[in-house]
Amino acid sequence: MSRHQITRLRHETRRRTLRVAAIEHLGAHMRRMVFTAPELHDFVSAGFDDHIKLFFPGEDGTTVMRDFTPRRFDPAAQSLTIDFALHDAGPATQWAAAARVGDRLDIGGPRGSAVIPDDFDWYLLIGDESALPAIGRRVEELRPAVPVITLALVETAGDEQRFVTAAQWQGHWVYRSENRGDDAGVLIAALGAIALPAGEGFVWIAAESTVARALRAHVIDTIGHPREWTKAAGYWTMGLADAADKSIDG
Ligand SMILES: Cc1cc2nc3c(=O)[nH]c(=O)nc-3n(C[C@H](O)[C@H](O)[C@H](O)COP(=O)(O)OP(=O)(O)OC[C@H]3O[C@@H](n4cnc5c(N)ncnc54)[C@H](O)[C@@H]3O)c2cc1C
Repeated sequence: MSRHQITRLRHETRRRTLRVAAIEHLGAHMRRMVFTAPELHDFVSAGFDDHIKLFFPGEDGTTVMRDFTPRRFDPAAQSLTIDFALHDAGPATQWAAAARVGDRLDIGGPRGSAVIPDDFDWYLLIGDESALPAIGRRVEELRPAVPVITLALVETAGDEQRFVTAAQWQGHWVYRSENRGDDAGVLIAALGAIALPAGEGFVWIAAESTVARALRAHVIDTIGHPREWTKAAGYWTMGLADAADKSIDG
């Protein structure tokens, strides 16, 4: 098979009921939750940017769904880790802020995976808090010694994360609290100061929709990175509930 082929997999979709087994604070704006359940025995997540549906109580007894990343899955322990970015409002963030060990959460999926092969010469992963779970998972899963550069926009220096990896990881962080420019502008300015390695690289972007769109345009049109080795998604949209934009590449 030729290099750089993305493999698309379909998985059987099942609804599973999980329980919170442990909660950890990753800085002031992120809550990590480890869930366990016997129903996880056949859970599969093949891609670092897979998503699962989380089911939350909405208004008037309804159920609402939101997309989250399987940050880590441990088949032996039947445990699944999900990192929740805490923001102003919304059923997911409200649930995550109030959750306690023992609480129940229903999930569905992942329905499929688009597996980006680990055969590139280098990787550049760009995003905000909502993308950090996928970014962290990718950095941790990459092959030893491969260069991976991450550029993440977070609130303050206290929101930085450390990833344990055999890859050659270079982490860059920019802070909303210290920058008055728009979020895309702050990331684009920081990107301008980063030297990209030689060879064939893959650029992955996920952030607020407008930001992700602007970054994708910058990477392809200004930097001249190949379109087919660039993937971008809007993980949320400013001012709109439940508004991911996965069509940015289309
Ligand atoms: C494929 C995929 C994977 C994702 N993985 C994760 C993940 O692992 N962890 C994670 O935290 N998020 C993740 N997200 C983003 C998450 O689905 C959205 O942030 C979602 O809108 C949160 O739901 P909510 O109920 O908290 O807010 P909503 O009810 O959807 O929105 C309420 C308000 O909050 C705003 N808002 C929504 N998200 C954010 C945010 N991150 N920061 C600031 N304001 C926001 C909206 O603009 C709206 O005004 C992922 C999204 C996608 C598409």
